[in-house]
Amino acid sequence: MRRNIFEPEHDEFRSTAKSFFETVCAPNSQEWEDRGYVDRSAWLEAGKLGLIGWEMPEKFGGADIQDFRFNAILNEEYHATGSVGIGLGVQNDILSGYFRDLTTDEQKDRWLPKYVSGEYITAIAMSEPGAGSDLANIKTTAKRDGDHYIVNGSKTFISNGLLADLVVVVCRTDPDAAKPHKGISLIVVETGMEGFTRGRKLDKIGQRAADTAELFFENVRVPVENLIGEENRGFYHLMRNLPAERLGIAIHAVAQAKRAVELSTEYAHERKAFGQPIGEFQVNRHALAQMHTEVNVMQTYIDQCIVAVNANSLTGDEAAGAKWWATDTQWRIIDRCLQLHGGYGYINEYEIARLWRDARVQRIYGGTNEIMLDIVGKGLGF
Ligand SMILES: Cc1cc2nc3c(=O)[nH]c(=O)nc-3n(C[C@H](O)[C@H](O)[C@H](O)COP(=O)(O)OP(=O)(O)OC[C@H]3O[C@@H](n4cnc5c(N)ncnc54)[C@H](O)[C@@H]3O)c2cc1C
Repeated sequence: MRRNIFEPEHDEFRSTAKSFFETVCAPNSQEWEDRGYVDRSAWLEAGKLGLIGWEMPEKFGGADIQDFRFNAILNEEYHATGSVGIGLGVQNDILSGYFRDLTTDEQKDRWLPKYVSGEYITAIAMSEPGAGSDLANIKTTAKRDGDHYIVNGSKTFISNGLLADLVVVVCRTDPDAAKPHKGISLIVVETGMEGFTRGRKLDKIGQRAADTAELFFENVRVPVENLIGEENRGFYHLMRNLPAERLGIAIHAVAQAKRAVELSTEYAHERKAFGQPIGEFQVNRHALAQMHTEVNVMQTYIDQCIVAVNANSLTGDEAAGAKWWATDTQWRIIDRCLQLHGGYGYINEYEIARLWRDARVQRIYGGTNEIMLDIVGKGLGF
């Protein structure tokens, strides 16, 4: 279906993104999947091509453009080319808001040039072994000691966790705050700081090329200059940035579902049973027709969310609803597409198998879908 949200500059960006994924990422997909993380050189190449941090001011290498259509294009081409692992979405969709809006001039000088060039990979560390959905109850502490915070605690499931040079760590800075969410701050911990260590790369069902790690902080002395945003207002900063993160996940959902339907349509033309292509059986033809239509409907809705986020009018409830609906629909579609592949769908060598494994976590991270529905429900007054 023809989409009407893009301008010529987006088409140009799309062709750069497509060529980057086709030449730098897709050919390495299997190696990265086997190894569990991507080459840093891919990040540097993305930086050179302007595929990271275009939201940042020009003097730091960005383009000073806040337009989520560019985020959408990058996520779409990533899946359309069968690429894996590179956490550009984490940096562009999630971290850009923090580094653009919450940093001081001094911090921008220090971090942004390398953020944009791909020399600095970033991560956000909210979840802990004992607190994921219940974010206000995190236990990692940052205690003020003169010009430093002393950070203690651990985080888990952190995307880009192994490669990250800068980690935005969600810490408790005021244990006596009247309410738990009022004593939280965002502190940037850097590679090389004493006491900051990484645990094992987590052995995930899917998204195997994306490094996801545990992080440990033992008496890490972090200069107060690494606080971003306001002390004890960290929870509010998170709430402000979560809608963009959730929309990013919804965009991935549509792009992955679209890829699955395309692969399955091709397969249903080629694979024969009982002397005819399996797509000629009405049950399969109808399944593909339904899923093709559903992808178009998803795309149209998510495009409207992109327009809304650009106009600064996408609400937290709307973003949560989009994340829930897109990822639940994605899962149903990709599972049906795998079924269309028969036994081959269960063989890792087939891309549909990887899409199915990769899709499962979409209903879990960025806030579980149960939490998404809770947010929507609260908006209805419950
Ligand atoms: C691959 C991957 C990448 C991730 N990347 C990051 C990252 O970069 N940074 C980061 O900080 N975190 C990251 N996460 C963590 C992710 O956001 C959490 O796993 C998620 O928020 C759920 O938290 P939890 O695992 O502690 O589950 P829990 O909170 O323990 O939830 C367990 C179950 O209980 C349900 N539940 C909990 N509370 C309620 C409630 N009030 N009502 C109804 N049901 C409820 C949940 O929906 C879920 O089904 C990642 C996770 C994965 C798997």
